[in-house]
Amino acid sequence: MSAPTDFSTLPLPAHVLANLQALGYEHMTPIQAASLPLALAGKDLIAQAKTGSGKTAAFSLPLLANLNPRRFAVQALVLCPTRELAEQVTQEIRRLARAEDNIKVLTLCGGATMRPQVASLEHGAHIVVGTPGRILDHLERGSLALDAVSTWVLDEADRMLDMGFADDIAAVAKHLPPPAKRQTLLFSATYPDNVAQLAARYQREPVTVALKEQHSEQQIEQRFYEVSDEQRLHTVGLALNHFRPESALAFCNTKQQCRDLVAVLQAQGIVALELHGDLDQRERDQVLIRFANRSCSVLVATDVAARGLDIAKLEAVINVDITPEAEVHVHRAGRTGRAGEQGLVLNLASMDEMGRVGRIEQLLGRESTWYPVAELTDRGGGQPLRPPMVTLQILGGRKEKIRRGDVLGALTKDIGLEGSAIGKIEVNDFSTYVAVEPGVAEKALRGLNAGKVKGRSVKVRRL
Ligand code: AMP
Repeated sequence: MSAPTDFSTLPLPAHVLANLQALGYEHMTPIQAASLPLALAGKDLIAQAKTGSGKTAAFSLPLLANLNPRRFAVQALVLCPTRELAEQVTQEIRRLARAEDNIKVLTLCGGATMRPQVASLEHGAHIVVGTPGRILDHLERGSLALDAVSTWVLDEADRMLDMGFADDIAAVAKHLPPPAKRQTLLFSATYPDNVAQLAARYQREPVTVALKEQHSEQQIEQRFYEVSDEQRLHTVGLALNHFRPESALAFCNTKQQCRDLVAVLQAQGIVALELHGDLDQRERDQVLIRFANRSCSVLVATDVAARGLDIAKLEAVINVDITPEAEVHVHRAGRTGRAGEQGLVLNLASMDEMGRVGRIEQLLGRESTWYPVAELTDRGGGQPLRPPMVTLQILGGRKEKIRRGDVLGALTKDIGLEGSAIGKIEVNDFSTYVAVEPGVAEKALRGLNAGKVKGRSVKVRRL
């Protein structure tokens, strides 16, 4: 028998249930239905779940339930493998905590300067989300204390271990109350031995919650096309104009290939951005924001550049080159297939790559299905694929005390845009990124440049 999926079956207060409804969370996802009753009863959990499954809420609701907002101390610690994941988790916790009064959530990750983090810690926080190395830095400097922690979450534990964080995690654990005095929730997509050891070391009689593979092979359709090397990049454009995904991730084996592909796609009028290792953190953030807010159709990356990338599942993954490692192929393919929807993997292979295709077939245990390049007809009536949104960058952010609501107010009240034409608004330290529908972009741009946000003039540009 499957667990009930109605949130109201959980021991959650009415205002929390109302907030979930306001967020549009109508039913629990399978991982939530399996883990929330146990976690809310105070059990330690080992939960096998991937990004996109609703796992963040599965540990955040129990963490919030354990919290006393009137006590000014760090009461929950969430360790994540990457900054991007930590920021995503922070955002989800903030959304879920909206129903409570004034719960402060702080992200502490490497790559950012220490001093503002120390200052924020001095102001106090209830929940800290961060990467193990930076959390440890703060513990060693004495800018963070964890003795009041009631919930410890290890998110994507397998990836943290893969990234070499085992020692840092052990050092952080020394600063926490003992297992019997805290709830320890471990989430991991896979459950290899080293994760089991982590559980044995840090948990108290944990209950394992494993779900059947949610993105089973049938949910991911793989199409193979035979191309020559000369045809390859052009074929990517054909495939995009044929399948017209809202967002796709294109993998190349080399940086040079990424660069060439972006140039070819841009020349065709397709909004493609490259994610590569030479970008500084700000540029990388900007690329990812544009991709996540649906104003970039294709993100082009090597496997290395895409490592640690936390983006929701995509409509399509394109293997511009076939990777020599079959496991990498499976990993790439796993990026598609949004919850409950079918994912599409398009593979372009030259004669020289047939050996690689063979190894993938062996690993997957099935033969590839080949399609003719000629099937890739333009389904857009000659219009290149366009993303549903464009991004406007306001040169001003948290440092100028700009908040989402200020921007939304300026766009709707002052400029008169419909709320439905406005997408994601992301406020960073120095910039704010607003997604708007292309049809109103000019009006929004002119209006913002001529008017005021939070009482002052701002500079805005279209990316
Ligand atoms: P996660 O796996 O935590 O990254 O969550 C994936 C996405 O699903 C996030 O955007 C969540 O806000 C959303 N989400 C989580 N739980 C639910 C739910 N019960 N119903 C609808 N959306 C959800």
